[in-house]
Amino acid sequence: MKVFIVNCGSSSIKYQLVDMETENVLAKGLVERIGLPGAVLTHTPVGRDKVVTEAEIPDHSTGISMVLNALTDAEHGVISSLRDIDAVGHRVAHGGERFTDSVLITADVVKGIEACVEMAPLHNPAALLGIKACKSLIEHAPQVAVFDTAFHQTMPKQAYLYGLPYELYEKYGVRRYGFHGTSHKYVAQRAAEMMGKHMTDLRIVTCHLGNGASVTAIKNGKSIDTSMGFTPLAGLVMGTRSGEIDPAIIPFLMVKENMTIQEVDDYLNKKSGVLGISGLSSDFRDLEEAASKGDERSQLAIDIFAYRVKKFIGSYVAAMGGVDAIVFTAGLGENSAFMREKICNGLEFLGTRIDEAKNNVRGKETEISADGSKVKLFMIPTNEEIVIARDTKAICAPLVPAK
Ligand code: ADP
Repeated sequence: MKVFIVNCGSSSIKYQLVDMETENVLAKGLVERIGLPGAVLTHTPVGRDKVVTEAEIPDHSTGISMVLNALTDAEHGVISSLRDIDAVGHRVAHGGERFTDSVLITADVVKGIEACVEMAPLHNPAALLGIKACKSLIEHAPQVAVFDTAFHQTMPKQAYLYGLPYELYEKYGVRRYGFHGTSHKYVAQRAAEMMGKHMTDLRIVTCHLGNGASVTAIKNGKSIDTSMGFTPLAGLVMGTRSGEIDPAIIPFLMVKENMTIQEVDDYLNKKSGVLGISGLSSDFRDLEEAASKGDERSQLAIDIFAYRVKKFIGSYVAAMGGVDAIVFTAGLGENSAFMREKICNGLEFLGTRIDEAKNNVRGKETEISADGSKVKLFMIPTNEEIVIARDTKAICAPLVPAK
C-alpha cells in the first residue's frame, strides 16, 4: 500500500509518499508561498537530486496538482500513475472534543473539521483545502484525518478547564486542547520501546521543542496534561510566541500602545518569545552563537526558555506523582545538546543524570542519561509522518482493493 501524506499550512504544503510494505519514503517535498509571489515546489525523489519548480501557485488545489504531477513525472516521479496512490493521510491541527483518534474522512467528518475552524483559523481551513483538492484529484483514494489535538483528549477536566466561568466551556468549548499530539505520542511510544516496557506502565514527560514548543505529561500511556492550551500560543516561551503571560497584559497593551485586538494577537504570536526577548532572532542557532559572543539578551532568551521548560517538567512530575523518563524532540530538542543539558541541569533531585558524552548526539534516537540514572533521558527524533501513514494504513486497509 502506498500512502500520500499531506500537511497543509496556510501558505504551504508538506508531503511524503510512503511505501507501507517497507515504510520507506519514496518521495517528499514542500510547496511554499502559496498565493504569494515567488511560489515554489521543492520535490525530492528519495535517493535522487531535488527538483525545484518555481511557478504561480494561487491556491492549495494548484499546489496539490503540481505535487501529483511531480510524483508521476517520467523523469522525477516515483510512481507511474495516480492509481498507485492507495490512500491519503492529512494532518489536521484541531479536532476539538469530537475527534479523539484518527478517522476516515466522510462528508460528516469534513463538517466536524469545519466546526473547529473558529479555534484554528489559520490551520483547519488549509487542511480542508487539501482534503478537497485530493478528493477531486485522486478520487479513488480514501482519506484519513490525523489530529494534533486527538492524543490530548484523555486529559481530565481538572487539567483542561480554565479558571473561567464554566458556561464559556459549555457555550464555546473554551478549554485546553493541546497540540503536537502526534509527536508526543510517537516519542513516548519509542521511549517505552527503548526501555523494553509498555507505555501503560510508565510516567513520561515529553518535550517537543521546535519553533512551536510544548511539554506533555503522559501517565500510563495517556496524556494527562500539556502546556499548549485553547490555542498553540499557551505554555512555553517559543520562537516568536509569548507562551503564558498574565492575561491582564492584553488590555494594558491595548491602552498603552494603542493596539487593536488583532494587533495584540499578532504581537503575542509573531513578535514575542525568544525573538522578542533577544531582539535578534527566533532561531536558537542564532541565539546560541550571539550569546557565545557575549550578547546579553540572547543569553537571557536562552535562560528564560530553558527555565520555563524546566518548570513545566517539574510541575508535570508533580502531576504524575513521579517520572520514569523525560524525552526531548523537534528541531531544538533534537539538535541542541547545549539546551538539553541546560534544561536537565538542576533536575538531579528527581533522579536524573545526563551523560555529557551520550548527549553529544544528533540525528539518531539515543538514551542520553548516565548509567544508573533513576530517570531515563532520551533524545528521540520525532516522526509525525510515520504515525499519519500508519494510522492511514490501519483505517484504509479494509477499503483498498488488493493489487
Ligand atoms: P517547527 O515548529 O517549525 O516544525 P522545528 O521542529 O523544525 O520547528 O524546529 C525549528 C527550530 O529548531 C529552529 O527555529 C531552531 O531554533 C531550532 N534548531 C534547529 N537546529 C538547531 C541546532 N543545530 N541548534 C540549535 N537549535 C536548532
